[in-house]
Amino acid sequence: MQTIDKFNFAGKKAFVRVDFNVPLDENFNITDDTRIRAALPTLKKILGDGGSVIIGSHLGRPKGPADKFSLKHIQKHVSELLGVEVQFANDCMGEEAASKSAALKPGEVLLLENLRFYAEEEGKPRGLAEDATDEEKAAAKKAVKENQKEFTKKLASYADCYVNDAFGTAHRAHASTALIAKYFSVDNKMFGYLMEKEVKAVEKVLKDINRPFTAIMGGSKVSSKIEIIENLLGKVDNLIIAGGMTYTFSKALGGKIGNSICEDDKLELALELIQKAKDKGVNLVLAVDDRIADSFSNDANIKVCNANEIPDGWQGLDIGPKTEELFGNIIKNSKTILWNGPTGVFEFDNFSHGSKALGEAIVEATKNGAFSLVGGGDSVACVNKFGLADGVSYVSTGGGALLEAIEGKVLPGIAAIEE
Ligand code: AMP
Repeated sequence: MQTIDKFNFAGKKAFVRVDFNVPLDENFNITDDTRIRAALPTLKKILGDGGSVIIGSHLGRPKGPADKFSLKHIQKHVSELLGVEVQFANDCMGEEAASKSAALKPGEVLLLENLRFYAEEEGKPRGLAEDATDEEKAAAKKAVKENQKEFTKKLASYADCYVNDAFGTAHRAHASTALIAKYFSVDNKMFGYLMEKEVKAVEKVLKDINRPFTAIMGGSKVSSKIEIIENLLGKVDNLIIAGGMTYTFSKALGGKIGNSICEDDKLELALELIQKAKDKGVNLVLAVDDRIADSFSNDANIKVCNANEIPDGWQGLDIGPKTEELFGNIIKNSKTILWNGPTGVFEFDNFSHGSKALGEAIVEATKNGAFSLVGGGDSVACVNKFGLADGVSYVSTGGGALLEAIEGKVLPGIAAIEE
């Protein structure tokens, strides 16, 4: 497999798929440029070698061309961060994109307009009438798939090589994230640095595991994490269940959960997961005490009680101090740690203590040589809120993509480069 470090981009044009799907305010100012900064090492390496860059990205979820979703809003900021005047093509297809790409000289950068202005990027039909028949739907799908080939081929024609640095969309088999790769030979397609880091981090928790391995699954619902938990049960030594999903397990085991969040249709599943953990010799760990509240509010009255003994009218919104110690000790004795999901309603300061304590235990374990991966939605917000991001080994940039990778799925964006 080709790697970005080995590849010499001198005199080459690289099509780089990035994830510049950044949040913008109502005046189109970027409110968080993390995703752009994350791709800078890749872009700088190509330019430093004497190559030129054609940047492809999506922004938002447009249903067609729309000024609101134009990548022109970020052109200036990308120029500033790169220290290079970035050119812009008002359309990712058509004469302008083709001629501007062709005219690129070493060290120059062209930003293409939002790839998702075309339905062909995602390969899903748009604008179908609500009452469309199955036949009409099938015909529209066939048409967009047909056009997708031309679209993809055209994007590929702009460049000599392809670099995928968009981990956030690696779980999508879109034109620019996966399909385009087949137009480049094995030697001319590769991951960017960000993608490489993400792939390596996932490998360290799924394949190249240092033991003991502890996964902490938090968040609100067990239903959204079933596949991940099932896949992890074949790999971890300790599985800590935390957050709102705890109460489904607690109730399934006959505990009293008061008004705590619970998925009553998943009680049997919770028991099955507990049994599977036993069968596989995994230490499944649940809270032993909870911080409970008499309403879903930061200002609610608060008490600590034993797990499984939550009085009526009260609900568990975080783990209690004994549980913090219990989880903390397991974490500190681990060599590989995966954290997905808070231990409670961390958005409320009065119920963020458990998530913070858990994050701090991970930082301590990391200092002592453990590899720690944090990712998937709210856990990233959590480590950022508590200023712990620098103390863990890796914070993933991919929400859905990371979760699918941990579920054990093959991500199309990764497979397209690796095959
Ligand atoms: P998820 O997106 O599944 O990772 O869930 C994250 C959300 O779960 C956060 O917004 C938390 O506030 C919420 N959450 C965590 N613990 C609880 C709890 N005990 N009760 C209600 N919501 C919770």
